Amino acid sequence: MASQRHVNVGGVQVGGGAPVVVQTMTKTETANLTATMAQIRRVAEAGADIVRCAVPRDKDVEALKTIVRESPIPVIADIHFNHTLALKALDAGAHCVRLNPGNIGGPDKVAEVARRATELGTPLRIGVNSGSLPKHLHALERENPVEALVRAAVEFVELMERLDFRDFKVSIKSTSVPYTIAANRALSERIPYPLHLGITEAGTKWSGSLKSAVGLGTLLADGIGDTIRISLSTFHAEEEVKVAWEILKALKLRERGPVLIACPTCGRLQFDMDTVVAEIERRLERYADPIEVAVLGCAVNGIGEASHADFGITGARNEGLIFSRGKPLKKVPQERLVEELFAEIDRYVASRRIDVDAASQAEGAAWLARIEEENAGDLTPERLAALERAKQAEQADLVDAALADGRAGEDGVVLRLDEAASPVDGRRFTRA
Ligand code: SF4
Repeated sequence: MASQRHVNVGGVQVGGGAPVVVQTMTKTETANLTATMAQIRRVAEAGADIVRCAVPRDKDVEALKTIVRESPIPVIADIHFNHTLALKALDAGAHCVRLNPGNIGGPDKVAEVARRATELGTPLRIGVNSGSLPKHLHALERENPVEALVRAAVEFVELMERLDFRDFKVSIKSTSVPYTIAANRALSERIPYPLHLGITEAGTKWSGSLKSAVGLGTLLADGIGDTIRISLSTFHAEEEVKVAWEILKALKLRERGPVLIACPTCGRLQFDMDTVVAEIERRLERYADPIEVAVLGCAVNGIGEASHADFGITGARNEGLIFSRGKPLKKVPQERLVEELFAEIDRYVASRRIDVDAASQAEGAAWLARIEEENAGDLTPERLAALERAKQAEQADLVDAALADGRAGEDGVVLRLDEAASPVDGRRFTRA
């Protein structure tokens, strides 16, 4: 269930129906102002809405005062074990403080922090981690780890409510993707507060991105989660931000920058698409517009499934085609494909218009038609997928028709067309 309440982190609304907020954490020593500010600027540029900094020492609190003043995005102070540091971070102007009520020294200390946060109007994030559940939940954790995580979070929520503090978001973090999904689903049913999602210690850029995409993507697709952080083992926090955005873009929850679509390639590929796609992806990072760019390894299928793309290229051995929104723009030599593609994109970004030269378009269309005709009989992956889709649609129609005229399904059993038993002039259904 989506959160009903929201918090305001330095002007960024989290929860209550606001767009999912992207956050990350600096990897520098917070007290190293130059390095920390440089990283914050990089993550802000990459699209972080909020940044979190670890504050384990007094010298980090000192730096925090400058960081919150100079940061282009709101700053959350990450505190563990030490409620005095939490109080100091609040006084330093942090836009939010993250703490784990279970390791901060007991309810009295939590109350002290909540009082100060109330005075300053600063929200908190209260977090539960699978590795640090309260002792009284350890037996339950062995028996039912998901319930133990949820119960710990609910107990912390109840503690905050007893303290009459409701300006917080909640996180349940686990290294296990299934536990994270199950725990957040259950928690979202039990509390109205915004949820911070993340997979703890997800791993390297490759495996961590995948785990996060599966875990967070599943929850976000259900409408659960108000802010996300991708935890990756890299010193480059902006990489976490990029992954977060790819997840949000894939789910169409937010838009930022271009979307690249590319065919998986197959034996029909006639140019070095690996290199070309990587170069296009890298160059697209400079653009803020949510343009869709398609790269097709060959022109055998025509523009096909990429016809909705704002711009695209499809290549052949010596020549390729630039296309836009389902129409050819021009034929170009293979080695000019990428340059010409970006020339078109740049023209569009500058003028908001796609200029079409009729002669070039006709030449491109003729080239495309020739290639399509020459390869009309090829069963490409796209054509096989289209055949499969058509077959499924046909079967669904036949089953619908059979159900409608009472030939099948009276007992509620779903039937399917039995291809092997179906003569041309008749249809037979078998139980699916
Ligand atoms: S047939 Fe499809 S998958 Fe194969 S190279 Fe061409 S566009 Fe790519």
